[in-house]
Amino acid sequence: MPSNSNPFRAAIDQLERVGKLLNIDPSTIERLKHPRREIIVSVPIRMDNGEIKVFTGYRIQHCHARGPFKGGIRYHPKVDQEEVKALAMWMTWKCAVVDLPYGGAKGGVAVDAKKLSKGELERLTRRYTAMLLDDIGPYKDVPAPDMYTDAQTMAWIMDTYSQFKGHLVPEVVTGKPIELGGSEGRREATGRGAAICAREAAKQLGMNMKGLTVAVQGFGNVGQWAAKILEEMGCKIIALSDSTCGIYDPKGFDVRAVMEHKEKTGKLRGFAHGEEITNEELLQLDCDILVPAAMENAITESNAHNIKAKIICEGANGPSTPKAREILYNEGVHVIPDILANAGGVTVSYFEWLQNLHREHWSESVVNQKLENYLVKAYHDVVKTAEEYRVDLATGAYVLGIKRVVDAQESLGLFP
Ligand code: NAD
Repeated sequence: MPSNSNPFRAAIDQLERVGKLLNIDPSTIERLKHPRREIIVSVPIRMDNGEIKVFTGYRIQHCHARGPFKGGIRYHPKVDQEEVKALAMWMTWKCAVVDLPYGGAKGGVAVDAKKLSKGELERLTRRYTAMLLDDIGPYKDVPAPDMYTDAQTMAWIMDTYSQFKGHLVPEVVTGKPIELGGSEGRREATGRGAAICAREAAKQLGMNMKGLTVAVQGFGNVGQWAAKILEEMGCKIIALSDSTCGIYDPKGFDVRAVMEHKEKTGKLRGFAHGEEITNEELLQLDCDILVPAAMENAITESNAHNIKAKIICEGANGPSTPKAREILYNEGVHVIPDILANAGGVTVSYFEWLQNLHREHWSESVVNQKLENYLVKAYHDVVKTAEEYRVDLATGAYVLGIKRVVDAQESLGLFP
């Protein structure tokens, strides 16, 4: 998803471009520009010192032509209505690209979660959930974790919702702890999905995974598992980074050892092997696959010309600006866009929801095989669409996602 100063404006521009490319009736596009529902709530909570503070919470439900709304909840001081609207729209396209029977939504609370105690976070989450009780639900809107929310947050949402309903409703959220109905393989899912997409791209370009060199920016959930799984696929992981520094070893890292070091010390800096490099140097390394898995706008028009990787697999949301993507496309770099490359998370969330609805628990190998099937199909659907319209993969992904949503919306018609 492209990022600029107004993310919702960027999302609308993209929708309009695809509308023109596909010659879609402007009134259909007009409907999709407006989220179906925008909910803003005040969330008062008692702080540990007895003081009462009021936070603003959002849940924006973009479109549910293909199924219940689905999307994360983030706790971040910069959360605002425009950002949540854009993220909700991008979720609609992302779910459609992977062909999941979901629409798109996003939620958030404008709060610096790092400054709250665990008790304060629990009260915030429970009150926010109570305010949204009529708007979320297993067949209405199924939240998931996002920035600064996690499995514990989902457990609190599930419990609060269940308390009001009078029975346990695990299928109201995904990304839960395993013991509450969370799915095997969910933790690794986004990184695994990115690795699967990178492998399909390498195959398409006639490259053998064995020995391909990989650099990963951002050694968090997505980056660590993408690196680990690419290593298992035979690649050599030559560079990794987090917010403290980058590390480089042309001989390749043992990713498990780096994960243990990060787990123990909380940072990459100080890892015994390799040389220290900057994040900017990492992006410009001579490598086969680059996985930006940290934050937005890592690749812009100022550094896009210096990228030497043959494949960029966008693990993060919005790591390349639209202008950078254009430069990379013209220079022949194969960019796998975020709405495809990081869709593994929402795909396994879908599996979690299915397991909960059927009161089943699938093994990790079943989950991974199904994820493989969905992402391989999505990757090739995107490539086929991009070839048909002679556009880059990012535009191909938007065309595919938007077209699927438009088809569903047109079949449903307009009530009344
Ligand atoms: P995370 O917090 O687990 O990890 C982020 C990592 O990036 C950390 O290691 C952090 O140190 C590093 N980082 C932060 N600033 C950096 C900088 N300036 N340079 C280099 N590294 C930096 O987060 P995550 O869950 O791995 O998410 C990463 C990205 O992937 C985000 O854009 C997120 O929206 C996206 N994403 C995540 C998921 C998921 O399932 N976790 C799903 C879809 C998209």
